[in-house]
Parts: sequence; structure tokens; C-alpha cells
Amino acid sequence: MIPYGRQDVSDEDVQAVVEVLRSSHLTQGPAIERFEAAVAETTGARHAVALANGTAGLHLACLGLDLGPGKRLWTVPNTFVASANCALYCGAEVDFVDVEPRTWDLDPQALATKLEVAARAGTLPDVVVPVHFGGRPAPSAAIAELAETYDFAVLEDATHAIGAREADGPIGACAHSVAAVFSFHPVKIVTTGEGGVVTTNDDELAARLRRLRTHGITRDPGEMERAPEGAWAYDQVELGYNYRLTDLQAALGTSQLARLEAFVERRAELAARYDRLLADLPLERPAPLAPGTRSSWHLYVVLVPEPKERAAIFGALREAGIGVNVHYTPVHLQPLYRDRGFSPGDFPVAEAYAERALTLPLFPGLREDEQDFVVETLRRLVG
Ligand SMILES: *Cc1c(COP(=O)(O)O)cnc(C)c1O
Repeated sequence: MIPYGRQDVSDEDVQAVVEVLRSSHLTQGPAIERFEAAVAETTGARHAVALANGTAGLHLACLGLDLGPGKRLWTVPNTFVASANCALYCGAEVDFVDVEPRTWDLDPQALATKLEVAARAGTLPDVVVPVHFGGRPAPSAAIAELAETYDFAVLEDATHAIGAREADGPIGACAHSVAAVFSFHPVKIVTTGEGGVVTTNDDELAARLRRLRTHGITRDPGEMERAPEGAWAYDQVELGYNYRLTDLQAALGTSQLARLEAFVERRAELAARYDRLLADLPLERPAPLAPGTRSSWHLYVVLVPEPKERAAIFGALREAGIGVNVHYTPVHLQPLYRDRGFSPGDFPVAEAYAERALTLPLFPGLREDEQDFVVETLRRLVG
């Protein structure tokens, strides 16, 4: 089966992990700081905090932004459940904003309209989580302007988007947000097995995330409630978690990051090749990127002509050994969220998109003959 996404692990990556295995620290060692410094350098953010996975990053960032009971988080329906679940972990409410029909990213117009209504009803959000869907930069400047007017925090779900750029700088620089969350799951651009990073320019938030990832414990005398009795002393000042990344994972991540440019360039070449080869088929392809921006090309999604044909096309491609996928079933239609009051029709653009969406294989190691086979198989089905 040709998967829709797959990691690219080199001999250097293996060597980097082996070196950690033979070192004194398998976790809580120096490889973490090196990885964090590499992510900070790549993104241009002041701080990068390494965590067990992207979901932990979303959870801790929400806690760091004081999300809790009585507070609200808004995100898009066209995302993985983790973008919304992070609010529920904190006891906050979730609502959604529909996506834009061509970019499949948060629609700033829909956000503006929903904010106007919420302002009158007294139900404005505390945190809004745009998702850089498939690696395409979301309209961050427009969202930031609304954040200014309506006083909410922007937390970027950048889990698809390491290596992507907005017109004014890399995703993760947090030019238009409080923080950005990356994932290093093997299907994403760069991998650590499981892993995540939160980037931020906010010193206090970064310190809070570092404390929350290790039980809410501090060894910083400045954060302790009483003078430490000795070098052994630590204070638990709040309830945190064990959301640490290991040094094995961090070393893999640093080694992988060195190839980020090559990964993104190869993904972009293959995406452009899909664009050419699929041009004469009745499929909606990803919209052109906004000038000056770059996608990390996590996903290459096409929309089939008719919703009712999608299952058959999907099945035939899988039958042919092509691991197509669907990103995403709208989160508000998941049983957990239906039980919380959402129903079909609530977010029509995301729903219409999801009924026709098909994610084609795209990863740096995808061979051109494999890609040709995907295209020819699709041609037989929809041509
Ligand atoms: C992968 C992903 C996450 C979660 O990242 P993990 O590292 O798997 O926890 C969150 N949001 C989106 C949109 C994702 O694709």
C-alpha cells in the first residue's frame, strides 16, 4: 500500500538516536535544549518548548492562556479532533467557525460575522485556534485584527505547518498569535515518533509551559513560595502533567530538522506535479497559494465531482493499493460533539468539503512512478 504520508529516516537520524542511547541521558538531558533551539531558530520564535506530542502542546497552551470553566475556544470543523478537545480538557466550551470554500482554512468573514453575534450575546471566545490546513498558511493577519477588536488570544494549530511561511515570516514566529503548536508525528513534515513543540515570544507563557510539562514543579527559587532548604528542594506550585519529550526523540527531531528545506521542497515539487498531471480531470485541486506565502504541503487534497461517488472512488483506490484518506470528518459531527449539541448543517462549507475530499499520497519518498500510478488510477475512475 502506498500510504498518504510516511516519514523519511536517514542513516544520520539513526546515528543521532544511537548516540543518545549510549549517553548518560535518555530523557531530561541536553538533546532537548538542542532540539528546542533548532525549532526556535527555524521558526524565529523566542521560545520553543518540547512536549510529548502536539495534543499535549494544545492542552498546555490552553492552560497557559487560562482557559477553564466558563471560557470559550473556537476552532474550525475541518481539523483533527485535538484542535477542539484541548478546550474540553480544560473544562471550557468549544464552538466552531466555518472554513473558506477554496483554501479550506478558517474563513475570516465567517469569524467576523460570528464575533458580531457573540459580542451582542456576551459569548465572545477567549481563544481562537486557526489551523494551517495541510500546511497552507491560514489568514493570520485578518484573524489578528479581529483578535485586537474582540480581545481574544490566537493559538495557531501549526501541526501541519513546520517549514510553511506567511508573507511576513515563518509559521511559528507568532507574529500574529500568542503561540503556535507543532506536531512531529510520523505523517507530519518532520518526525520524532511522537512529539510536539509550542513556540511563543511570551516569556511568562514559555515558563508556565515548561512547568506544566513536568507536573507543575519548579526548581526556580524565583517561582518558589518559600526559600529552598537545599539543592534538593522543589515546589509543586500547580497541577501539571508528565508531557515531556525524551532525548531520543529530541535527537531524532534535530537531525530531521536539518533536512526541513529539502522535505518541503520535495513535497512542493510533487504537489506541482499532481497539479500538472491532474489538470484535465474533473477534480477540484488545492487553490493557488497567496503571493509571498509557502505551504509545507503536509496534505494534497482533491475534491471528487460528486459526494455520492466518493466512497466508490476511495474504495477502488484502496483496492489498487493506494492509501488515500479523508481529512477530515468535521469535528462537530463526531458523536462526542453531536452529544454536545452540534448537528449536520451547522457548518455547511466544511461539511460540503468533507463529503468530496480525498487526500492523495504525498511525502518526500513518494516515487514519480508511484505518483503516476495514483494519477492513472484516478483517471480511470473519474476521467
Ligand atoms: C496531528 C494533529 C494534531 C495532534 O498532534 P499529535 O502530535 O498527533 O498529538 C493536532 N491537530 C491537527 C490538525 C493535527 O493534524
